[in-house]
Amino acid sequence: METNLRKNFLNALQGKPVDRIPALSVTQTGTIELMDRAGAAWPEAHSNPEKMAALAFAGHEIAGLEAVRYPYCLTVLAEALGCEVRMGTKGIQPSVLSHPFSKSPEGLEVPEDLLQRGRIPALLEATEILAARTGGEAGNGIGKEASKETEKKNVPLIAGMEGPSTVFSHIAGINDYLVWFMKKPDYVARFMEVCTDICIEYANALFEHGADVLCVPDGGLVATDLMPPKALDLLKPGFTRLCKETRGPVILHICGDVERSLHSLSECGFDAISIEEKVSIKAAKAAVGDRARVIGNIAPSSTLLFGTPEHVKAEAKQCLSDGVDILAPGCGIAPMTPLANMRAIVEARDEWYEERE
Ligand SMILES: [Zn+2]
Repeated sequence: METNLRKNFLNALQGKPVDRIPALSVTQTGTIELMDRAGAAWPEAHSNPEKMAALAFAGHEIAGLEAVRYPYCLTVLAEALGCEVRMGTKGIQPSVLSHPFSKSPEGLEVPEDLLQRGRIPALLEATEILAARTGGEAGNGIGKEASKETEKKNVPLIAGMEGPSTVFSHIAGINDYLVWFMKKPDYVARFMEVCTDICIEYANALFEHGADVLCVPDGGLVATDLMPPKALDLLKPGFTRLCKETRGPVILHICGDVERSLHSLSECGFDAISIEEKVSIKAAKAAVGDRARVIGNIAPSSTLLFGTPEHVKAEAKQCLSDGVDILAPGCGIAPMTPLANMRAIVEARDEWYEERE
């Protein structure tokens, strides 16, 4: 079928009519099988722009997903702000080891050389490589003009990045982060203000280098039953400003059972909200209304990792029948996920349309 995948995805994000409901992943796509086939493995693919791009493109070219999604960790901004990061292994994602602002937000500000720090230059280079391969163009965030050779591709390029609350939790450490929501709202406000500024500067750089859409996994712990509902109010000003000042579409990915928070989150201005299987698509659609689109939510562990292609298809078709706007895994794809299960996502979408004809 002659679908322009970029246009189709951007239409879906805006709630416009689509050729077919997009089937892709807005969360991480690096698996061992794709690493072997692309010749680009973790941990190198977290910092080498060519390897990062090759592994990301494999998610589209080999697994069939209707977007290219990179990178594969949530530690880029943490590292740029001085956290020590362990880069992990071929099967284990990077993690943050130290927290330079574990006492207070004192001295926290946006670094003047933010875009030159840590792996950010490598991420921006990978963005340019991928923008060229997906038929996009740096500079506008939409990729409107495709060159002749890549015209047929026109695949949307989704950049993942930490949101302000994740950056906050990394630089402060998770314990202080959670305690301060209860005991030090002034600290939370200061952290969120600066971390939001940092996210906006980095997000706009990603758009300028050719990303089409951002996916920001963020806020999960605060939006679940673990925390009082008023804790979420401390995140909303940052989220709202992020959506307003970022020059392109922003997807919030949020982990956990966040059903009670979805209405409130949908008021922040995100184009779409990506949810785990812990929230049903029907409940999410009801909570979000027409303020944002709903993305999800094939179970990444029980179904994609441990199930068969038949399991994946059954769950995917249920998501479609329940009214999901964009079909996707409910969270990051586990590295050991079989390629056949990844391919089953798009196959299920195609079968679902055929079965309705
Ligand atoms: Zn998640």
